[in-house]
Amino acid sequence: SADSTNGSDGAPPGMAAMQAKFASIQQKYTEEASKRFRSDGLAQYVDLQDAKDARIHSLGKDPWVDHAALNAKTPAVKDGGRYKFVILGGGYGGLIAAVKLIEAGLVNGPDDLRIIEAGGGYGGTWYWNRYPGLHCDVESYIYMPLLEETGYVPKQKYATGLELREHAERIATKWDLHDKALFRSEVTDCRWSDEGEVWNVAVTESRGPEEGERKLNIQANYFFVLSGVLTIPHVPKVPGLENLGGSMFHTSRWDYGTTGGSQEDQNLTGLEGKRVGIIGTGATAIQVVPKLAKFAKEVYVFQRTPSSVSWRGQKETDLEEWKTKIANKKGWQRERRYNWVTYLNNCAPPEQVNMVGCGWTEAPAYCAIIGSPNFGIIEPTPEKIGEHVGGLLMLDLPRAEKARARIDEIVKDPETAKALKPWYPVWCKRPTFSDEYLQAFNLPHVHLVDTDGKGIDSATSTGLVVQGKEYPLDILVLSTGYRSPAYGGLNPAKRTGINVFGRGGKSFDDKWDAQGASTLHGVISRGFPNLFFGPTAQFGQSPNNTETLDIAAEHITHFIKKAEEKVGGLAVIDPTVEAEEGWAMEAVKRAANLAALSVCTPGYTTSEGEFNKPNQDPAEMMKSARMGIWSEGILSFMKVLEEYRAGDLVGVDVTPRK
Ligand code: FAD
Ligand code: NDP
Repeated sequence: SADSTNGSDGAPPGMAAMQAKFASIQQKYTEEASKRFRSDGLAQYVDLQDAKDARIHSLGKDPWVDHAALNAKTPAVKDGGRYKFVILGGGYGGLIAAVKLIEAGLVNGPDDLRIIEAGGGYGGTWYWNRYPGLHCDVESYIYMPLLEETGYVPKQKYATGLELREHAERIATKWDLHDKALFRSEVTDCRWSDEGEVWNVAVTESRGPEEGERKLNIQANYFFVLSGVLTIPHVPKVPGLENLGGSMFHTSRWDYGTTGGSQEDQNLTGLEGKRVGIIGTGATAIQVVPKLAKFAKEVYVFQRTPSSVSWRGQKETDLEEWKTKIANKKGWQRERRYNWVTYLNNCAPPEQVNMVGCGWTEAPAYCAIIGSPNFGIIEPTPEKIGEHVGGLLMLDLPRAEKARARIDEIVKDPETAKALKPWYPVWCKRPTFSDEYLQAFNLPHVHLVDTDGKGIDSATSTGLVVQGKEYPLDILVLSTGYRSPAYGGLNPAKRTGINVFGRGGKSFDDKWDAQGASTLHGVISRGFPNLFFGPTAQFGQSPNNTETLDIAAEHITHFIKKAEEKVGGLAVIDPTVEAEEGWAMEAVKRAANLAALSVCTPGYTTSEGEFNKPNQDPAEMMKSARMGIWSEGILSFMKVLEEYRAGDLVGVDVTPRK
C-alpha cells in the first residue's frame, strides 16, 4: 500500500498518506475560512464608545469608578500645568514605562511625571476586565511585570484578574505613583508646539454625575501613548440587539449587580433560575462559560468560530520551588521569558530545559506571526511563500490534531464535539487553555448554539435568533471582543482615538495614511518629536505582552537618557528620514515572512479578513509590507536594539530644548 512502500515519487513510507491528510485538512481550513469572510469586515462591529444607540453606548461606561472618592482628592493635574513626562495609559504598559523612567533617574522633581488614564484606577486591562474566571493565559511568573523588583510571589501559575489588578496597585505604591495619576480622564488631542518645543495635550476629566466634565490643557516635554491593544470594546451590529429584553452587558464591564457576586466573591447567585446567553467563544468566553455553567439554569453559548482549547495545568505556587528553581537569581524573570519565547519562535535548542512547560510551548508554529530566526529573508515569489506557509501549516499539524482529538476525548455528545473543533492554524486566533471549558458542554443545561460561521441573525425583545430559531434569554453576556489592534493600519494614534499633530501642524494620521507605518524601532516617528508609543508595527512581538511592553519602555528610556546626557538637559528627539526609511525597509524586506496570515479565518489578527483581500495596487502593497513586525523573532529584535544602544543615537536628531 501507499503507506508501506515508497510512492511513485520515491517518498518514504507513510508520506503519501500524510500528504493526502495534510491536503484534506488544508481544504477544510479553506472551506471553513471562506464561510466566514464578510464584505463588511471591521464595519460589522460598533465600538461601544461610538454607538449611536443609548443603551449600547451605555454598555461602555466605567462600572468601577468611585467618583466620590476621586472628587475628594486634589487632582494630580492642573489645567495649564507643565510636566516633564506625561504618559497616556495606566495599564501595565504605562506603569512599566513610569518605573523605567524613575529607575533611570529621569524623574526628579514633583512635576516630572503624570499619568492620564481613562479608567478610575490603575491596571488597564486588569482594571476594566473583572469578569468571573479571569486569569492571565501566560504564566504569571513571566507575565506579571516587575516581580523581582517588588519581591511579589504570584499565588498560582496563572494569576486571577484580581491578583493582576492588585499587582498594578502594588507597583503604583512601590514607586509612589498614586498621586501622579489623573483617572477617569481622556486625552483627546495632542499638538506639538514648534515655538515652545513641547506637547500641548488636551484632556477631558469626567468627574461624575454631580460635577460633570473638566477640560484641561497641559504641556509635556515627552509624551507617551501607551493605550494598549485590546482596549475599546465592541459588539456586532446584530439587528434588534438594542431592544433585547432583560439584562445585557459586555464582558469588559461585568455587571455583578445582575449576576450577583463580585470580583472577590465569585458566587454568581443572581444567575440562579436564569437563562443566560453568551455571544462569542474567544479567549474571554473560554474563561466565563464554566462560571456561568456553575450558577445559571440554562446556558446558551452562541458560537461563530470555535477557539482552540488546549490543556491548562493551573497550580498553586510551591514556595520551595519558587525559591530554589524559579526566582533563584537576579535576572531570573528575563531568563525565563527568553526561555519561554524560544519555543514560540521555534528556535529552542533541543538540550534546553523548558522552564515554563505550558501549552504555549507546544505551539512552535505560532512563529508564523511573531517571527523566527529560522525565517531569514524569504523571497517574495509565490513559490517561496507557498513553501514557507506550507511548512508552517505542517509544523502546526500535530498540535492542531491533538487539540481536535482532545475535544473528542472530553466532550461526550459527538455533534457538540464536532462543532467545537477549530479548523485553522494556531496563529489565526489567540490559542486558549482551559481544563474546564470543553468539560462544561457535558452538563445537561449547557447548550452550544453553533451558527456555522454565520453569527447571530437578530435579536427580539425576548431572545436571540439563529437560523430562524429563537432562543429566549433573561441575561445576555456579550463576549464579543475589542477594536482590532490592527485598526487604522496599526497607527497608534488612530487605535487610541486621539488626534496627534506634529511639527508644522502635520497630522499623524495623514502621515501614516500616506506612507504607511513609519517609525524608528517601532516607537517614534519623524516629525513627532518626543512622542513615544507602545509596541506596534515594525516592533518585535511576543504573545507575552508585558515582555514587549518592557522592551519598548527600556528602549524609549534609553533614547531619552542618552539624549539628555548629550545636550545636558531637556532634549528634542526626532528620528531622521533616512533612519526611519531604513527601518521601514527592514520590515519590507521581511514582509513575505508573515504571509501565513493569508490562510487565516477572519478575526482581529487579520482585521476581520481585511488583510486577506487581494491587493494589486503597488502603493497599497508597499504600505501593508511596512506594517510588518520584526519577523526574525523577539530575541533577534532585542539583539538589534541592544547593538543600537551601544552606539550614539545613530539616525536621531537630538537638540537641546530651546
Ligand atoms: P491596557 O492594559 O489596555 O491599558 C491601556 C490603558 O489606556 C487603558 O486602561 C485605557 O483606559 C487607557 N486609555 C486608552 N485610551 C486613552 C485615552 N485616550 N486617554 C486616557 N487613557 C486612555 N496579554 C498577555 O500577554 N497575557 C494575558 O494573559 C492577557 N490576558 C488578557 C485578557 C484580556 C481580557 C484582555 C482584554 C487582554 C489580555 N492581554 C493579555 C493583553 C493585555 O491587554 C496586555 O497583556 C496588557 O495588560 C496591556 O497593557 P497596556 O498597558 O499596554 O494596555
Ligand atoms: P475575541 O475577539 O477573541 O472574541 C470575540 C468573539 O465574538 C469571537 O468568538 C467572535 O467570533 C464572536 N462574534 C463576533 N461577532 C459575532 C456575531 N455576530 N455572532 C456570533 N459571534 C460573534 O474577544 P475576547 O474578548 O474573547 O478576546 C480578545 C483578546 O483578549 C484575546 O484574543 C486575548 O488576546 C485577550 N484575552 C486573553 C485572555 C486570557 O486568557 N488571559 C482572556 C480574554 C482575552 P469569530 O471568532 O467568528 O469572529
